[in-house]
Amino acid sequence: MALTILADCINCDMCAPECPNNAISLKRLHNADGSPGNRIYQINAELCTECVGFYDKPTCVEVCPIDVVVKLPTT
Ligand code: SF4
Ligand code: SF4
Repeated sequence: MALTILADCINCDMCAPECPNNAISLKRLHNADGSPGNRIYQINAELCTECVGFYDKPTCVEVCPIDVVVKLPTT
């Protein structure tokens, strides 16, 4: 499904516990030299069902306080 978390995410942890499919998790990025970098929340597109069958709207979008979970435009 075409939902993603923008880089402005503040890692507040509001969304991940609400996801009925455990599709949201913290991933560690790596710096160019291979050292551990920032950790950011990401949505696993293979697990996300946009909450169909659980909620009327994507619940991660609903709970995010700064509106950084967005639908990717479909082409
Ligand atoms: S839309 Fe629903 S299933 Fe998809 S990541 Fe958000 S909370 Fe999880
Ligand atoms: S609720 Fe929004 S700001 Fe908080 S971790 Fe999730 S995507 Fe990031």
